[in-house]
Amino acid sequence: MGKQKLKKEEKNWRKFWKLGVDEWNTQFFGVSHGGELTATEGHHVYNLSDIALKYGTPLQVIFPFVIEDRLKDLIGYFQAYMKIYGYKGKFFYHYPMKVNQNKEFILSLLSVGANLEATSANELWLVKKLWEGERFNSKIRVFCNGPKTEPYLELIEELRGKGMNIVPIIESLDEVDRFLKYKGDIGVRVDLNIKTDSHWDKKFDRFGLSEKDALNLSKMKNFKIMHYHMGSQIKTQKSIFEGVKYGFGIYTQLQKIHPNLDTLDIGGGFGVPYEKKKFYTAKVVSSKIVKILKSLSDKAGIRHPNLVVEWGQHIVAPAQVTIYKVFSEKIIPKANAKAWYIIDGSFMNDIKDTWAVHQKFHIIPVNNMQSPLKTTWLAGSTCDSDDKYTAGGNYILLPKLHENQDQFVAVLDTGAYQDGLASHHCLLSAPMKIVAQDGTIKIARKRENAEAIGKLFGWNGDHK
Ligand SMILES: *Cc1c(COP(=O)(O)O)cnc(C)c1O
Repeated sequence: MGKQKLKKEEKNWRKFWKLGVDEWNTQFFGVSHGGELTATEGHHVYNLSDIALKYGTPLQVIFPFVIEDRLKDLIGYFQAYMKIYGYKGKFFYHYPMKVNQNKEFILSLLSVGANLEATSANELWLVKKLWEGERFNSKIRVFCNGPKTEPYLELIEELRGKGMNIVPIIESLDEVDRFLKYKGDIGVRVDLNIKTDSHWDKKFDRFGLSEKDALNLSKMKNFKIMHYHMGSQIKTQKSIFEGVKYGFGIYTQLQKIHPNLDTLDIGGGFGVPYEKKKFYTAKVVSSKIVKILKSLSDKAGIRHPNLVVEWGQHIVAPAQVTIYKVFSEKIIPKANAKAWYIIDGSFMNDIKDTWAVHQKFHIIPVNNMQSPLKTTWLAGSTCDSDDKYTAGGNYILLPKLHENQDQFVAVLDTGAYQDGLASHHCLLSAPMKIVAQDGTIKIARKRENAEAIGKLFGWNGDHK
């Protein structure tokens, strides 16, 4: 009887903490008999409470299997729907490196078939290092977005000279002349004149060529790719479809001028259900995109374009969790929450979007899930009053603290953008980074000590 009861409670905890739901990217997470958060890779189970005790906090855990699973699924959906609907174009996934440049992420993505997209000379330099180390299939294609500074241009030309399939995406009119002489394919980014329901939708966008400027380009034989990017974390699938339809209209006009144009790159923007509410799914959206493109190109009497997507955070956000320890508590007299829980890290430093764009995250206990609960707000340990997380003024339900027992909390979906944006306010150490793969844990980056952080600020050894 005891056993059965436990099972039912476990189920309830899962539901309560919103675990085990595919559409919310929590299908890998569960709860142990002892009320601890687990992650499951095939038949391996990681107990995140044990891991936090062993490696200490703050801690970031990377799950390469999550990346691989998600990208395989995505490529699978597009390829399957193309086959089902008789779509003649090809599908390519390009990973936008800016979303997370950690080596563990990039290598996992490459292993399941990602091509790359770089936004700066320094990102491209990483690609060069991989290339020189023969770490990837030399057939993969690399897109170069972003403003082309002189070092960036030189690197693009160098890698092209060495035989890399590298495609600069023209971002402004002053880049056109330089790339007229370019010996490989080129792309053009068009700033679509269409509204998107995303935080990043701006009336005046500085990225890409205006539709008018793009349509006024004179014939270029190597113009192969039309690219657009509407912004990140697009709220509805309708907005994604409207982008595809509108973008296709520009694509057909451009193709009349540049007959070799054969690829439509719809950029990034597929959202992550950070709030674990009803959300659109990759399966449905990929099917609809293929359907739309097939029907529009058949109507227009042109060949089905090859399709590129650059959905970054959709693939990588769920592949990392950040774990903190609650090390003290302060009562809040009159508010939605009863107490501040102070964590041994920083939202402002490690999970910047909580502060910068007030992004909500899914925060749950790592242990004591069966304990009595308390409504809390979370505070980071910098001395900045903005270093906090209140779920938008609501509260976070967490176990009451026990004496002599650590309470850990996990922030899910921290795999996208947060590392590149991270900082060192109050010189706190960045979390230690570990990788959970094939049932074993490897330390990827040790916790920074005072000396390592001091060096970033010019304190080099002798302190003179
Ligand atoms: C940022 C960016 C992406 C990725 O956006 P997500 O919202 O993470 O999907 C893709 N393409 C371009 C050009 C970008 O600038």
